[in-house]
Amino acid sequence: MASVADLPMTYISTRGGAAPVGFEEVLLSGLAPDGGLYLPAAWPVLTREDIEGLAGLGYVETAVRIMPPFVGNALSEDDLGWLCASAYGNFAHDAVAPLVQLDERHWMLELFHGPTLAFKDVALQMLGLLFARFLSRRDRRITIVGATSGDTGSAAIEALAGNSRIDLFMLHPLGRVSDIQRRQMTTVRAPNIHNIAIEGSFDDAQALVKAMFADRDFARRHALSAVNSINWARIMAQVVYYFYAAVRLGAPRRKLAFSVPTGNFGDVFAGYVAARMGLPVERLIVATNVNDILHRALSDGDYSAGPVIATATPSMDIQVSSNFERLLFDLHGRDGGALAASMRAFDTTRRLHLDAAQRAEAARLFSSERIDGDAMARTMRWALGQGNMLIDPHSAIGLAAARRTTTIAPETPIVSLATAHPAKFPDTVERITGVRPTLPARVGALFERGEYFDVLPASFADVTSYIASRALPV
Ligand SMILES: *Cc1c(COP(=O)(O)O)cnc(C)c1O
Repeated sequence: MASVADLPMTYISTRGGAAPVGFEEVLLSGLAPDGGLYLPAAWPVLTREDIEGLAGLGYVETAVRIMPPFVGNALSEDDLGWLCASAYGNFAHDAVAPLVQLDERHWMLELFHGPTLAFKDVALQMLGLLFARFLSRRDRRITIVGATSGDTGSAAIEALAGNSRIDLFMLHPLGRVSDIQRRQMTTVRAPNIHNIAIEGSFDDAQALVKAMFADRDFARRHALSAVNSINWARIMAQVVYYFYAAVRLGAPRRKLAFSVPTGNFGDVFAGYVAARMGLPVERLIVATNVNDILHRALSDGDYSAGPVIATATPSMDIQVSSNFERLLFDLHGRDGGALAASMRAFDTTRRLHLDAAQRAEAARLFSSERIDGDAMARTMRWALGQGNMLIDPHSAIGLAAARRTTTIAPETPIVSLATAHPAKFPDTVERITGVRPTLPARVGALFERGEYFDVLPASFADVTSYIASRALPV
């Protein structure tokens, strides 16, 4: 059977110290052994004709055109098609990611029609199937550890529950995710799902996960893998909807811009990949809440982590954005050694400076906006009044940034990514708009089920011994 591409795609680490590997290894290992993040050795490029050829295709058909260069010879054409069809077949909207027009210039790309009501499903539904396929082919088991600011956790649990080849340990910051987000994780009862509430912030939880990977012995003993957006396959899956949306709005004839509510820099990095692949993107707006490290980095070079401030957009309450390292790799001229040195320094000083040349390079594609709670609320009310559209707070950060930006030609349409369904944050939405969104029936009776999770201190020793005592042997 023909592979989707003749050559294996080779992946390298952002820190230059790991052997090049193929797609299957990248998926299964998550983080590179030198502590870096994997990315393709070279960006695949689509021709103008390739992009024209996407016109009129459905979501699954588009995915099957975009993913092959990344998958290489790890899957056959039929397999890839089947996996995409199953991953996206159970989305509640048959367009998977519908575009909705708000006014002449602004569009929302609705990415929340998956099973857990956030855009994380787009990548994780696919990831769950890829894991299942590769693990059964190798007859292997793995242990996945992840940290979640809310939405990754439920999407990963939904995608992996019941998979007998995977133990999933999901860490969330105690009391800092919404009721619905927590219940979507903790009410799933499956022997391979382990929810841990960490007494600390998302960054504390993420630091614990990073430390587990850095402990080579522990990582090897449990065959650790990741479903956080450090896993390249997630980025790959997200690249698809940039092409899908752009082609529907006239690409490659017409350029467009995207505004992306950003936390870990995974989603907007997928937009960057689409642009590197040849999609005519005029601009990517990095929209942050008051946790604005990315805005500071892109506007004046100051990538320095402060304390995390809890906001109405918990999935963006992040100071250290893992995926930013992937952009930094390109901004360091793809010199892994140089980036490794910068990242080691960052680990101790918590700051990193982008010089003028790096800033100018980033500014060719990226701009950024910092949106506070008032601007977010005004935008939610505007969307309701203007477009009769109830939007969630995260999506409102993106839309607010799109409406504020002055960096885009007036004739260029701006697509704001709607990353969560408003019903995922009903209290905030009701407080701001006066309208209480109703939970779609597909989410089920969340408030009637029992919750299963354990609370642990943000301590490496506690969390690792918890995992060691519960993970099945690999
Ligand atoms: C995860 C998430 C984000 C941030 O996405 P990143 O890829 O981490 O930048 C934004 N909005 C919602 C609703 C999310 O779940």
